[in-house]
This record gives sequence, structure tokens and C-alpha cells, in this order.
Amino acid sequence: MKTIRDFNLNNKKVLIRVDFNVPMKNQVITDDNRIRESLKTIKYAIAHSAKVILLSHLGRIKTIEDKEKNSLLPVSERLSELLGKKVIFVPETRGSRLEEAIAKMKNGDVLLMENTRYEDLNGKLESSNNQELGKYWASLGDLFINDAFGTSHRSHASNVGIASNLPSGIGFLIEKELNNMLPVINHPERPFTVILGGSKVSDKIGVINHLLDKCDHLLIGGGMAYTFLKAQKINIGKSLCEDDYLEYAKEVLKKTNKIVLPIDHVVSKSIDDETCFIKEVIEDDDIALDIGPKTIKLFQDYLEKSKTIIWNGPVGMFEKEMYQEGTKALCNCFQKDQTVIVGGGDTASAVIGFHQEKNVTHISTGGGASLELLEGKELPGIKVIGE
Ligand code: AMP
Repeated sequence: MKTIRDFNLNNKKVLIRVDFNVPMKNQVITDDNRIRESLKTIKYAIAHSAKVILLSHLGRIKTIEDKEKNSLLPVSERLSELLGKKVIFVPETRGSRLEEAIAKMKNGDVLLMENTRYEDLNGKLESSNNQELGKYWASLGDLFINDAFGTSHRSHASNVGIASNLPSGIGFLIEKELNNMLPVINHPERPFTVILGGSKVSDKIGVINHLLDKCDHLLIGGGMAYTFLKAQKINIGKSLCEDDYLEYAKEVLKKTNKIVLPIDHVVSKSIDDETCFIKEVIEDDDIALDIGPKTIKLFQDYLEKSKTIIWNGPVGMFEKEMYQEGTKALCNCFQKDQTVIVGGGDTASAVIGFHQEKNVTHISTGGGASLELLEGKELPGIKVIGE
């Protein structure tokens, strides 16, 4: 697959799809990590005398009010500070103002156009990969580099649409994600343990189906564990359960003995209750919101012996301090000589929030995209570059 290194960028108009979908509160950026993650590719293009034209989406645009809340103007200001140079911001996604600004660019200049999803207001042109829009954006440049890993599982005009109409490659962020994740998923060193958590079984079926054969152990915690426990006729009280997936859970448990489920729990009578208890047997009016100490020890024993670990989904409602212990303890037990891959927005924020990145080999930046890689799927925004 071609990367940005494979092109002569000198004096070329290089369209780069980046992921500037940063969290914002009242139009102020609350975490600029995604902007920082894109800097390596942007700086490389500047250093190689490209005219750098950046495209990104921000949030979802369904109404005129959404446009105001999701302008990329604050992002262009932050990017300007991080690059230490002026970023030309064009508050349009098409038209003469944008085209004239591009025509005036000098080598090494950086231009950011307005949120690509503004094009969704008149018929989802961006999100449905409208052919004309992809062609139009491609006409603005000489080359296309996709570096937005977080949206590469979607087929949009600003990734697949442009790539279908221009010589294309991937940037450093996508390259890093693929190089760190694919060899581990496809050729893990054994023992290989997968930890799955989070709220829903239904979100993780693709991952279970793809990784169950490949892994030696699958540790399941979080809300999704309770559908599996109920499938074994264990009382789960009022804990999260997807009844539609009980049959699936039964089938999977019948097929394999690799799955390890919680043996004790931190429970409460209500999510808002300030008291919680550790129990091995859940009562009818209990809600289980974290794994208990015996389960932590059980999971740690498997993890300690593993050479490779992939983790997606917190094992408890970690946003509340009372239910953090399980997720925190798992973050804490990774060792230097293990390969540890953490994927998914919540798990990544837990590891970073608990300051436990030190023994983690790779924290994936893309929630949905990393989940689809774990499901063994080809991501359309990347596949189109390889074609
Ligand atoms: P997901 O987006 O599916 O990965 O789920 C992440 C969410 O699962 C987090 O917001 C957690 O609070 C939630 N979660 C984890 N464990 C539980 C649990 N036992 N009961 C309810 N929610 C949970």
C-alpha cells in the first residue's frame, strides 16, 4: 500500500483527510489529541514543499444550528498554534472562495476547509459518498493522502470518494495503526488473551466471532458479561442483559471453553445509589456494575501468563469512581515484555485517564475503526488506497 513517502510532494496540491473530530464544549476544544496525532503527516508534507489542503469532519450536521456548533474555525486556530505557522481557514466546503484561496497557495502553506459534513445538510452528500462531491474535492488537488483512521471504516466522499479519483496513499497515523494492530491480530504470540467489556454483546459479536478461534482465552467483563451469565442460568438480578442474544451466548459457550466470566461482582440497588457491595451471588434487585476482587485476581492470572493481549471495552462502569476498580486493576497488570493493544474510545480513555499507558504497546485512536479491524474487516477508506 502506498504511503505519503512514496510521492514527490514538491509543488503539489496535496489533499489530506485528517481526523479533527475533537470533543468541544461551547466551541472550545476540550481535548486536542486528534489534532496532535495528525501533525506528523502535516509537518512531513510542509517539509516536502507541498501545498497542504486539509479536510475533516466534526460532529454530525443535521440542522443549520449544528453548523454553527461544529465549525472547524477553532480547530484551525489550535492547529496554527501547534504548527507554529498560519493556517488559512476557508469557511466553505466548495465554490470560488475555496478555489481562489487554493490557487493563491505557496509551497509549504496549509489550508483547512470547513467541516466536510456541512455537505450533509443537503442530502447527506458527504456521508453517502456522493460521486460528484468526491470528484469535485479530488479536482482541487494533485494527490490524496488519507490519515483519518477514525473514519476509515466509513465510505464517505472525503475519503473513498476522493481516493477513487486521484493517486492516493496513507499518512503516518493510519500506517502506525495498521502496523501495530494487524500483525498482532493475525499472528499473535501465544498465549494470546482477549479482554472484552463494555455494555453490549451485540456490539462485540463480530469481534468474538473473529477472535475466538485465534485466541487462547477470552475474558469477558462489563455489562456484556451478564448476558453470558444469564445464558448459564445464573441469576443476574437487574444487571444489563440483551435477551435477544441469550441464544447466541449459549451457542458460543457450548462451542468453546476459552471464555472466562466474572465470578464475583460489585453490585448496587440502583445506579445512583452511593453504596455498593461485593457479592458472589447476585440477588434479584441487584445491578452488577463492576467485576469483584476474585474476578480481578482470576483475570490477572490469565493476563500474567499471556504474551499478547488485546483489550476492547471497560469491565465496569468506570466513569463512576465506585466501579473503577476492575478496569483500573487490569490497566495496572500489564508487563513490559507483553504486547498489549488497547482499542476503542472508552478503553483508551480509561488507560490514559488512569495514567497506565507505560506497558501498553499501542492505544488505537479509532473506536469503530479499531473494532472493525478486530472483526477482521477491511476498512473501505484504506482498501480504496490499496486498489
Ligand atoms: P461500549 O461503548 O459498549 O464499549 O461500552 C462502554 C460503556 O459500558 C461504558 O460507558 C461503561 O460505563 C459501560 N459499562 C461497563 N460495565 C458495565 C456494567 N456492568 N453495567 C452497565 N454498564 C457498564
